Amino acid sequence: MLVTQQRLARPKLKRALRGVRKLYKGSIRSFSCDQVAKVALSTTVQAGGSSPAARALPKPALCVRASMDSAKASAAPKKSVAVIGAGIIGASIAKNLSSQNCDVTVLEIHSKPAQEATGKSWAWLNANRKEPAHYKELNARSMREWQKLPGLAEFPGTLYLGDQRDNDPRYPSQKLTQAEALERQPGLSAEAAAGGAVLYAQEGFASAPDATEAFLREAQSNGAHVHYSQEAIDFTTDADNQLTGVRTAHQEYPADVVVLASGIKTPALASKLGVQVPLENKPGTVNILSGKLPPLLKHILVTDEAFLMQRKDGRVLISFYKGVHANPSALNVPEEPSPEQFAKVGKEALEQALLIFPELKQASEAPQVIVGRYPYPVDAMPILGPTKAHPNLYIATMHSGATLGPIVGQLVAQEISQGLQLEDLDPYRPHRDFGDLSHLY
Ligand SMILES: Cc1cc2nc3c(=O)[nH]c(=O)nc-3n(C[C@H](O)[C@H](O)[C@H](O)COP(=O)(O)OP(=O)(O)OC[C@H]3O[C@@H](n4cnc5c(N)ncnc54)[C@H](O)[C@@H]3O)c2cc1C
Repeated sequence: MLVTQQRLARPKLKRALRGVRKLYKGSIRSFSCDQVAKVALSTTVQAGGSSPAARALPKPALCVRASMDSAKASAAPKKSVAVIGAGIIGASIAKNLSSQNCDVTVLEIHSKPAQEATGKSWAWLNANRKEPAHYKELNARSMREWQKLPGLAEFPGTLYLGDQRDNDPRYPSQKLTQAEALERQPGLSAEAAAGGAVLYAQEGFASAPDATEAFLREAQSNGAHVHYSQEAIDFTTDADNQLTGVRTAHQEYPADVVVLASGIKTPALASKLGVQVPLENKPGTVNILSGKLPPLLKHILVTDEAFLMQRKDGRVLISFYKGVHANPSALNVPEEPSPEQFAKVGKEALEQALLIFPELKQASEAPQVIVGRYPYPVDAMPILGPTKAHPNLYIATMHSGATLGPIVGQLVAQEISQGLQLEDLDPYRPHRDFGDLSHLY
């Protein structure tokens, strides 16, 4: 297979893509991953017009597969991609890129992966009450991808206590009476279930750190290089101010494309290239109750104020999050909590948890409190795509990244490796209108 990747000026790219669309006789509005993959495998696009000089330019990063010939696939030039950040998003992107003819380098400040948001996440996999429809669908697609990753995610379903949370008839749910809820979850407080419950059977949770490590292992087995204790401190550019790579204190890493999957540090890094990423970081706590509890929770238990789940190893995760999304300060988590403040947060969370599930009194230990910070785009939607100022600088940051990790990794890798812009990701571009940003800048 002769696979020629041609960098194209945007009008030529658009013409080429129109050609691909014609193959579908106008029957599709957007390219889904599957459609693009099929096209890539089965078609020849007469793009033309690319010169060696154009190929040498670091931008634009966009390109299309121009012709296919299976015998010589290995002759295709590899694209080098530097991914900054070994959280679940960077790891998932690296895994997918490494299997798509890209030379991948991952840089991570910490000495191991998943030390920031990913390591502190509840990692509840859901599309519950997520809006608008395209965002809900993206989350639902990713939940389906998690189901293909046995051992990294479980799907015990969420028992939501109280009024139905998600009324979308396409999002499967089952209303339960108080008696049915108590039967489904022995030990549940009758008072907490007084208003009945709704079971969202397809929801689950992941082990986000284990998944991150697994994704990185797979990337490495595909040839990716993962460098820990390497903080990206700046970028390299050429005489025309085109982005050419990443710099750490020790070394430069040349790259055709740089992906910022750096969680809450993404805006600071992007600003070094004059790019604004309107991201806030919001605190969230995870209170982990250990002490080798026997299997108690058959489902994830959620109320308007609290969240309980039990991992296979017996640990119970408690989160008390009243008002956190509306008002982060409502969580009452100080920036630098003292041991006494930690103890107070843990005690309060346990008190709330006991109201829902009194059996937790069996725990012999006070909850360990972990404060994580969500990367939280100002409009709550993921920020995904190349930037206008540097089309080979790709931003990948979001909240709900534990749910979204698998699908985001696939779509982003497809865009970068094949030089496409998938309409699936159009609502999330870094250059969209975010509204008033005066509180940030
Ligand atoms: C308390 C809490 C609960 C959550 N619950 C859920 C949930 O139930 N469901 C859900 O879907 N999501 C949840 N989330 C959100 C989800 O965890 C995040 O969206 C996701 O982990 C983000 O992953 P990431 O890889 O983008 O960021 P991170 O995990 O923060 O990873 C970014 C990585 O980049 C590295 N880095 C940063 N700067 C540099 C640099 N200059 N050089 C090298 N490396 C760098 C960091 O060290 C870090 O390892 C929760 C988050 C928190 C904090």
